[in-house]
Formats: sequence, structure tokens, C-alpha cells
Amino acid sequence: MKDQKNRTMMQYFEWYLTNDGLWWKRCAAKAPNLSALGITDVWLPPAYKGASQNDVGYGVYDTYDLGEFDQKGTVRTKYGTMKEYLRAIEAFHANDIKVYADIVLNHRTGADECEDVLAYTVAGDNRNEVTGGDRQIRAWSRFTFPGRGGRYSKFQWDHTCFTGTDWDENTREQGKLYCFSGKKWSQLTDTENGNFDYLMGCDVDMDNPEVVEEIYKWLSWYIEKTQIDGLRLDAVKHIKFTFYRDLLKRVRKETGLALPAVGEYWSDDLGRLCYYLDTVENVMSVFDVTLHYKFHNASITGRGFDMRTIFDGCLVSRLPEYAVTFVDNHDTQYGQSLQSFIEDWFKPISYALILLRKAGTPCIFYSDYYGNPGRDRPMVPNLGKLIKIRAKYAYGEQVDYFDHPNLIGWVRRGEKKRSGSGLAVVLSNGEGGGKRMEMGTAFAGQQFYDAMGECTDPITIEEDGWGTFYCNGGSVSVWMPQKAFEDMTVND
Ligand code: CA
Repeated sequence: MKDQKNRTMMQYFEWYLTNDGLWWKRCAAKAPNLSALGITDVWLPPAYKGASQNDVGYGVYDTYDLGEFDQKGTVRTKYGTMKEYLRAIEAFHANDIKVYADIVLNHRTGADECEDVLAYTVAGDNRNEVTGGDRQIRAWSRFTFPGRGGRYSKFQWDHTCFTGTDWDENTREQGKLYCFSGKKWSQLTDTENGNFDYLMGCDVDMDNPEVVEEIYKWLSWYIEKTQIDGLRLDAVKHIKFTFYRDLLKRVRKETGLALPAVGEYWSDDLGRLCYYLDTVENVMSVFDVTLHYKFHNASITGRGFDMRTIFDGCLVSRLPEYAVTFVDNHDTQYGQSLQSFIEDWFKPISYALILLRKAGTPCIFYSDYYGNPGRDRPMVPNLGKLIKIRAKYAYGEQVDYFDHPNLIGWVRRGEKKRSGSGLAVVLSNGEGGGKRMEMGTAFAGQQFYDAMGECTDPITIEEDGWGTFYCNGGSVSVWMPQKAFEDMTVND
């Protein structure tokens, strides 16, 4: 049987990185450190040309331009050139880290030319409601990619490739939403605002078979060119649900690659996440947004939050094998569209809850690990230790002690083949205290130490395998056998 090492992903970017074109080089330089830390997968930002050089990557202009052509006034992207991107991926591979590419297919921005197009208007909060009949608008919807000159693909995009847009160059009115005449929004999308097909820019028409074929060709090219291992799929709630189901099945079949994928379906409604996974026939995992909002709620509620319920109604409880758990990301951080960051005091607790348990695949946010001085955000204390502990020691049977509204804990009883594995976690969102938990008689007589450094005295596991493990108020302690604890300390 294959060795089932715990996997840990890191989102290796944040919104406010400096536009200096050095990011891919930094990624390559950091690959050995990340590997030593216990990171097995990285999610890199979108690598293709946006509407401007400093675009974070979600304002896609040309998916075939990975920083290779002089377009939008620049060859490189915010993160560097194509060659540097490819080198970064090689560096990760050389360090046994898999690379997830950020795939943004819902929309295009920064068109090269305007077109006169017939369109009708719909209400912003109910896109099924037509508010104005067909009239001619001047839409930025023609993409000819002159700087690329047909390299890799001769496909050019025009209004027939899109369903609608939010801008008429003739009237320049804000807040309008136009659907091109003869078209309608894809029906199988999220139902927020009546129909949430439209997000921004020119909305790519997944009901157009030529568009779908071009995207398939592009993805095959992209995988071949970059050798990426997996996909992070942007804004899937805004894309016809059957699109990724069919695309992933086809690409996996044609390439023979496993091509793991994780979708961003931004909803705190567990029913919607499950419905999506069911509709796409589980061709991907999704980020556990339900758990993120649980963390957010717990962090702002404080001791009034019942910690026994922290996983209730979350994807990681319902479908753990399809849940990528996370604490924060580039959208939830300060000043961003989905701002809902977890309060500082609760972050170590949140990370312990996703890193040291069996269920879910955790994804670490770059700014939580490194801190974000430009935004006055601190690094999450002990996060590096938690990642290391997950990689080496968080194994074996899990027993929960979710028996108090503020003070909960669990043990991992270790695996024989993993020296030093096994641990006890206890955390509180109120007063500190002790919790009796059973490690098992294999640990009888051993001294356990708190790797978080919150509690300085060791505790001894009793003859019957039980011990009393402590934590301070509003914090988490991770108790480990002495030898593992000393290894951690030496390696720091
Ligand atoms: Ca869409």
C-alpha cells in the first residue's frame, strides 16, 4: 500500500504583491524551504496576461500569453515572464511539490476593439428580469491579440463568443448589465441574483461549442507547455455547471493525467456546494467556504460561540474527501471583495482545526504564513510548526472530545511506522483549562510537551493511557511526546 503522507497546500500569493515582475523567481527560490516545511502542493496565481501589467491575474486578457508577447504595454505579467514561470514550476517539481495553476475562464477583459452589437438590459439583482429591449450598444468585445499574431492559436474572440457585458461605450453609463440579443445567460449556474452567470467583463459563452472547443485546445496546450499538476478553478458558480464536468473528463482522458482540481464556489450554503459537486459528478473538490465563515463567525463572536458546533453544517464534515479547507485567501483579506478575515487571536486555533485533523485537505494562505507588513497584518504565530507537525506527526486514529462549549480537544494516536507520531490538541475560545483525553496505553508513562509553547511544564501520560492536557484562554496547545517535541525545537 502506498504511503499516505499528509498533503498540505499553500496559496503562494496574496492580492497586494508588488508589481515588480520578480514573483516567479521568488517562487523558485523558496521551493526548497517549502518542501522542508512540509508543503506538498502550491497554488500559483493566474499566469496569463491581464488587461494591465499590475492585474492580479483575474482580469484575463489572453490566456495564451504567459508573459511572452508585447501586449497591453508589457511582455511580462505582474509576476514575471513565461520562462520564469516555467522555471518556478521546475523548481517546485525538483522539490517534490505539485503545482496548481489558477484557471480563470469565466470572463475576458481589455478587448482590443469595440463592436456594434444588439443587446438588451437586465436587472442587476435579478438577471432573469429584462429591463430594456434590443438596442445597439458599442461593446468592448473583440479580442484579436495583435501582439501574439496568431502564435499557438489563431482563434479571435468577438461578441459571438460572449453572452454579455456591463459597458456601452456610447452611453458610458455605470451599473448596467447587457445580454447580447439572441442569447441568454447559461441556465445551470448559481441562482443568486436570479442567475449568476455574469460576474464581470465580457462573460464567456459556454453554450457556444466553438468557444468550448477553443478552451479545450487551450487547456491541453497549457498543460503540455507548463507541466502543471493540478488546477484551481476560478469562479465556478458563474460558469455553466456542466462545462467543467465535461472539460475535466475530456482532458483527463486525452492526457492520461490525474489532474486534481479544486473549484472556488463562493457560497456559505452547504446545500449549494453539495449540489454543485453532485452536478459536476465530483470531478473536483471545492474550497470549504462554509468552514471559512464558521471560523469568521467564531472569531468575531468570541466565547459566546459554542466550539462543539465548529464543524456543524460544513462541507468538511459532509464530504471530507472533496473539501479543501482554508482559513483566509486573497479575496477575504483586508480591503478585498469578500472581506471576511478571521480575527488574529482565532487564527492559530483555525489552523490547528484544519491541519491536525483527518478530514479535508488544508490550504495555507501566503499572508498568514509570512505576514503582510504592507497591510499591517502579522504572521500567524506557530503556523510553521503546525505545518511541520501535520507533515510528520498528525497521524493515526482520531478521537474527539468536543464536550464543552469553550474547551474542546482531540487526540491522534499515531502510527507505529511513523516515529514520534501521535499528539493531543486542546483549545479554548474562553477560559483556559485542562481536558482528560486518552492517548492509549502505548504512550503510558511518557512525558508530553506543548509544541506551541503556551504551557511550559510537561504532563505525564498515566498507566491507563489517559492524560490531562491544558491550554490557556483563547489559544491552542499541541501536546507531543518528548522526542518529537525536541525534534521540532532543534529544527526550528
Ligand atoms: Ca459566466
